Amino acid sequence: MRRETKLMHYGRQPLPGPANPPVVRASTILHDTVKSYRDTKARRESDDSVLSYGRRGTTPAHALMAAIADLESGDACYLFPTGVAALAGTISAYVGAGDHLLVVDTVFPATRSFCDAVLPRNGVAVDYFPWNATDLSDWLRPETRAVVVEAPGSQTFEVMDLPKLTVWTRASGLTVIADNTYGSGWLYRPLELGCDVSVIAGTKYLGGHADVMMGAATARGDAVAPLRRAVLANGQTLAPDEAYATLRGMRTLNLRLERHQQNALAVAQRFAARPEVSAVLHPALPGHPGAPIWQRDSSGSNGLLSVAFKQGFALESFLDRLRLFAIGSSWGGFESLAMTIDPAASRRFKYDLPPGPMARFHIGLEHVDDLIDDLDAAFDS
Ligand SMILES: *Cc1c(COP(=O)(O)O)cnc(C)c1O
Repeated sequence: MRRETKLMHYGRQPLPGPANPPVVRASTILHDTVKSYRDTKARRESDDSVLSYGRRGTTPAHALMAAIADLESGDACYLFPTGVAALAGTISAYVGAGDHLLVVDTVFPATRSFCDAVLPRNGVAVDYFPWNATDLSDWLRPETRAVVVEAPGSQTFEVMDLPKLTVWTRASGLTVIADNTYGSGWLYRPLELGCDVSVIAGTKYLGGHADVMMGAATARGDAVAPLRRAVLANGQTLAPDEAYATLRGMRTLNLRLERHQQNALAVAQRFAARPEVSAVLHPALPGHPGAPIWQRDSSGSNGLLSVAFKQGFALESFLDRLRLFAIGSSWGGFESLAMTIDPAASRRFKYDLPPGPMARFHIGLEHVDDLIDDLDAAFDS
C-alpha cells in the first residue's frame, strides 16, 4: 500500500465503526476480575497498544504511536506532550552521568538550551560539531555515547550528509538521535538514513493546524529498549484529545506539504528577485550548497525559508507592514508567519551566514499570489 493510502487508514477500527479512532478519556481501566487485571498488565509488558491505564495512553494515542512508527520506518514510537519534551526525554534515555554527547551546532535553539542547562547538571558532558562534519573523530571521547543531528539545520537549513555520517557513527558504536521536525516523517526519514531515533515536534506539520502541542520519538532496533524504559519510568504520554487531533491532522499531511512546498518555492524566488534581499536560505533552491544532498535524501521541502536582507534594511517595519503574515513563533500550521532571527548568536562555529538582518518565514496555504502581493506591497510602501 502506498504511503498516501496508509495516511487515510491509520487507526482504522473494526467495522462498523467511526473512520477516526475515538477519543477515549480514561485514567483507570476497569476489570471485572483480578485475573483480567493481571492478564492485561502482563500483556502490556510486550505490547504498547494494550489499554491498561491512562499513563500508558488510550485508544487515539495507541493509534497515533502505530501511525508515526510506520511513517518513520521505525519499530516503536512514544509520545510526549511537546516537541521539546520528546527531545529532552529521548536524549536523556541514551546518556547519563559520566557520558559524553555530541550535538550538531545548527540544532534547534531549545534543544541547545536543554543540552547546556540540564545535561551538565546530570553529569553529561556536551560538545558541538559543525553541520558539515561526517567524521567526528576530532570530538570523540572514550565516553561518547550519542550524537544529536538535525537536517536541515534550524533556521538556516544547512543539509547534513546523514548517510555518510551514520556510517562513521555506526563504526564508533554511537546512538544517533535526529530531530526530524522539518521533514515530519513525510519528506525525510532519518531512520532509513542510518539514524537510531527520529524525533518529530508534531506541534508543527503533523497537527498542522496551529492548535496542538505534541512530540513523538520513533526508534528502531536496539535503540527501542532504552527509549521505552525512559518513557515508562518518566510517565510520559500524550492526552487523548491531542492524540486525536494529531492523527486527524496527519490525514492531510501529504497534501498540505505539497502546497506548502509549492508556495514556499514561489515566495523564495520572489524574495531572491528583490533588490532589498542579499540571500534566500532554502534547501531546495538551486544554488543552495546542500541542494544536491537534500534532493538525494528527501522527497521534497516544506514551507520554511529564511531571508537575509541588505545591511541597513528596516526589517522590523517591513514585517510590521505585512498583512497576511502574522508575527509569531512555531510553524507548520496552515497560516503564514514571519519572525526575526539571529542564528549566529548561539552558534559556536562561524558559517558563511550572510550579513544584515534576517527573518524566518513559514509560507502557509493561502493563495501564493496574495502572499507575493503582500510582500511586494510591504517592500514598496
Ligand atoms: C518547534 C520545534 C521543536 C519543539 O517543539 P515544541 O512542540 O514547540 O516543543 C523542536 N525541534 C524543532 C526543529 C522545532 O521546529
